[in-house]
Amino acid sequence: MDIIVLKKSSTQDEIDNIQKRLETKGLSVNISKGTERTIIGVIGDTSKIPEEEVDSVRAMSGVDEVMRIVKPYKLASRDFKKENTVIDVEGLKIGGNKIHIIAGPCAIEGRDILLTIAQKVKESGASFVRGGAFKPRTSPYTFQGMGEEGLQILLEAKKLTGMPIVTELMDPRDLTLMLKYTDIIQIGTRNMQNFRLLLEVGMVDKPVLLKRGLSATIKEWLMAAEYIMSRGNHKVILCERGVRTFETITRNTLDLSAVPVLKQLTHLPIIVDPSHAVGRWDLVKPMSLAAVAAGADGLLIEVHTKPEEACSDGEQSLKPDVFDDLVKSLRLVATAVGREI
Ligand code: PEP
Ligand code: MN
Repeated sequence: MDIIVLKKSSTQDEIDNIQKRLETKGLSVNISKGTERTIIGVIGDTSKIPEEEVDSVRAMSGVDEVMRIVKPYKLASRDFKKENTVIDVEGLKIGGNKIHIIAGPCAIEGRDILLTIAQKVKESGASFVRGGAFKPRTSPYTFQGMGEEGLQILLEAKKLTGMPIVTELMDPRDLTLMLKYTDIIQIGTRNMQNFRLLLEVGMVDKPVLLKRGLSATIKEWLMAAEYIMSRGNHKVILCERGVRTFETITRNTLDLSAVPVLKQLTHLPIIVDPSHAVGRWDLVKPMSLAAVAAGADGLLIEVHTKPEEACSDGEQSLKPDVFDDLVKSLRLVATAVGREI
């Protein structure tokens, strides 16, 4: 806690009590009595003061507002680490000058189809293959994913194309299995605040792609990253995938300003998933171009050879030739902003 604004009605006794409490925590105060209000500036290292203590001060008699200057996330913050974090995944560096594209279907649906999609996206310029084996579906009656059989197919796609794997983990009980197959663990939007899951992936040595929660603020998202990092795993990649708003024409609203905001607040790499953000294949290209222009370190794009037959998210999946055309345009924007694909 750094600045305490007192109520107009605050008394000298109340001010003394607050001062005493802060002094017991090893902090000192600078009391500034204005014509309207008294403000207490807290002097000392407040970064180690826990939130509970701040809440207790908020509840003290005479206190109107407590404002923190120190950020609640530490390991994820730019103040903690000035230079960008670059995450090396089998020689591919996420967060460096090169923009990486993660591409593939929403779900792994079968061997032939996945291998075909993987080869096509690789030829166009993707550097990671994706596909869900455990799907977080809104309805329990829809396709839930192929499980381990799907992971085996993904591994085959990796062997065939050389592209490392990104796939979603929903349940800590599947973590050991996941580690045998994936190169990056995806935490989906619905699990961004599944704190037990975050702590589990925080204890393994594997990069984590942390998607933004459906209605999460940037601060909540960074606190979720902090959960992972607090257990020792600092290899966190943030993924903006749109947030829920009043708008219904698009599936979600892509918060592109999150990219430059995060570049200021954190050293972690940030990628953008326009597919889940817009939910319509025809809008994926403009938003991908905009994401690269805004400074994204990578993109996650759903691609399917037969979107009309896809088990999930067909309406937002690009056909391989559309994906190919997109990557060509992306190269131009990347060059314009001093990056490469
Ligand atoms: C996905 O990547 O297929 C997915 C389910 O994404 P999200 O968690 O962003 O909805
Ligand atoms: Mn999907």
